[in-house]
Amino acid sequence: MGHAERNKLVITVKDKCRVCYTCVRECPVKAIKINNGQAEVINERCIGCGNCVKVCSQGAKVFLDSKNEVEQLLNSDERVIACIAPSFPAEFSDIKDYQCLVRMIKRLGFLKVVEVAFGADLIASEYRQMIDGDDPTPYISSDCPSIVYYIEHYHPDLVKNLSPIASPMVAITRVIHEEYGKDVKVVFIGPCIAKKAESNEVDEAITFKELRELFLKYQIVPQKDDRCDFDPPKAAKGAVFPVSRGLIQSIDKSDDLVNGKIITASGKDNFKEIIKEFESGEIDCKYMELLCCKGCIMGPGMTNKDQRYFKRSQISNYVKQKLEQFDQEEWEAYIKKYSHLDLSQSFSSNDRRVEKPEQSSIEKVLLSMGKRKPSDYLNCGTCGYDTCEEHAIAIVQGYAETEMCLPYSIEKLHKSIEDLNISNEHLDNARIALKHSEKLAHMGQLSAGIAHELNNPLGVITMYSNILKEETTPDNPMFKDLELIVDQTERCKKIVGGLLNFARKNQVKKVETNLEKFVIHSTESIILPSNIKLKVNTNLTDSLVMIDQDQMMQVLTNLEKNAIEAMPNGGILSIDVTDTESDFKIKISDTGVGIPQENMDKLYTPFFTTKALGKGTGLGLPLVYGIIKMHRGQINVISNTDESKGQTGTTFIIDVPKF
Ligand code: ADP
Ligand code: MG
Repeated sequence: MGHAERNKLVITVKDKCRVCYTCVRECPVKAIKINNGQAEVINERCIGCGNCVKVCSQGAKVFLDSKNEVEQLLNSDERVIACIAPSFPAEFSDIKDYQCLVRMIKRLGFLKVVEVAFGADLIASEYRQMIDGDDPTPYISSDCPSIVYYIEHYHPDLVKNLSPIASPMVAITRVIHEEYGKDVKVVFIGPCIAKKAESNEVDEAITFKELRELFLKYQIVPQKDDRCDFDPPKAAKGAVFPVSRGLIQSIDKSDDLVNGKIITASGKDNFKEIIKEFESGEIDCKYMELLCCKGCIMGPGMTNKDQRYFKRSQISNYVKQKLEQFDQEEWEAYIKKYSHLDLSQSFSSNDRRVEKPEQSSIEKVLLSMGKRKPSDYLNCGTCGYDTCEEHAIAIVQGYAETEMCLPYSIEKLHKSIEDLNISNEHLDNARIALKHSEKLAHMGQLSAGIAHELNNPLGVITMYSNILKEETTPDNPMFKDLELIVDQTERCKKIVGGLLNFARKNQVKKVETNLEKFVIHSTESIILPSNIKLKVNTNLTDSLVMIDQDQMMQVLTNLEKNAIEAMPNGGILSIDVTDTESDFKIKISDTGVGIPQENMDKLYTPFFTTKALGKGTGLGLPLVYGIIKMHRGQINVISNTDESKGQTGTTFIIDVPKF
């Protein structure tokens, strides 16, 4: 392992994640954990492919920056040699002349600039021998470090199938040490993040992006007349390596693609599929050329993430131009010189697979996301996992959250909206109740005041009417009138007392009452004009109720009087009495003028009256309301003022617990 550790290649930038789950979807090894709504790289699972860096639009994932280390090397006394990956023409298409680029790299302080493609030329012949040789082992290419990490960590049984051949980067490093001395330091420059941790033999590795940043820092720009060629050994066809199937092209093995001896795959889904099929014995071939990206030209260390075909054409142009001016003799001499160089490479398994959780716990999680039957498994992939089951497994393993499931989250949102609606309704009811109790408080104050003022004059009337009554014999024509005065004054005192009680929020004094008789009695104490017809209709399962008789009498007489006053031209006053097991209900309806909508809200406000001065006080309904509330009952009103909609009139409905 090199200076950079495999598990530190990609770094999460905190708080930048907007949880789109694209990185989860794009990560071939699901090395992304969603924790408290933030996507984090699980370092020990990461294979450094950099897919997450490429796809994150928020810049929440960045790769390890090695510029500092490279600058330190360049500023030291060491002799530092750069080797540049063959994908450079795809990156530096803006620098028309590659020789200008070579010069720019040297201006940073590199002693030599060598093409990695020569390393590719060297290993190409190793690959050719391997494919044509007698060894029956089917081999997997080992030049893409992410593929190597993937096999070492997730398919350790296939490590034996990794081609035991050094990568072009390692090969050229060995060449450089032979050519320029064992003590020189080698810095790889390329499109790949995973290369940073590939080999100890290479001192540092930076991406093209980092190289551009160094150019910017030291203000190094291309200059037409300041150019130089690569240092030897120069490369030939190895320069086509970075496009997919590059190796196959460079060793002229395209025929074997047709006959199935060689299989190639690039890109995160394809390489995984091939490895899976190969492991399960479905594939019979000699060699598998696998790349984690769609060709190295699509690596995460390129500044431009797109334009794959443009990039391919840039490589082709460069190779064409290169081969035109190619010095075959010189190249062959170098190839010969290094034909005995050890180009072997060994790999070792490093199993990082996580055991699959128990089926029962997977099912439990699926159930918690509302997935009960197979048709609930949408496998929509929105969560980033291919199937609902894979998502559930990741949840059990602690890498994912249930909220990542879109259908589940939508359902949860719907439920929340419903709950919110219910709370809203409760709140509305509470607000109305509050408004009413405010009215009640007003009324309490008011009635306390009135009752207090009335108490004294009433006392005087009671006293004198009693004296007068006592002084009068029953045969006196005034006796009956005096008796009525005494009776009615007594009643007034009771009401006033009641008002005072009400104001002090005293409990009602409930007594057992026959409701039917009580209602009929209430109609007897009001004066009914001859043009108004009274209809009392009782339909009670049990006529016995517990009420405060004086207070409830006020309720009924007030409602009845209001009804009569609403029918100046006559009409029908109907009283309907019904009950349930727990409540009784009295409906008092008239065929009068009705209550306009705009007055509905004001009915229980003390002093609200539409009646002529001296006629109405606006105290009736507030009192009624208070008494009903003290009986823990409800009062509702329905009214119609519009003849076109049918009979006008008003119905007050009181609904009171029987006990
Ligand atoms: P008052 O009868 O002294 O006006 P209330 O509190 O009893 O005071 O009634 C308030 C108002 O409600 C009345 O002035 C009237 O406008 C309206 N109202 C009450 N009951 C009826 C009814 N049955 N029909 C039409 N309007 C009514
Ligand atoms: Mg009234």
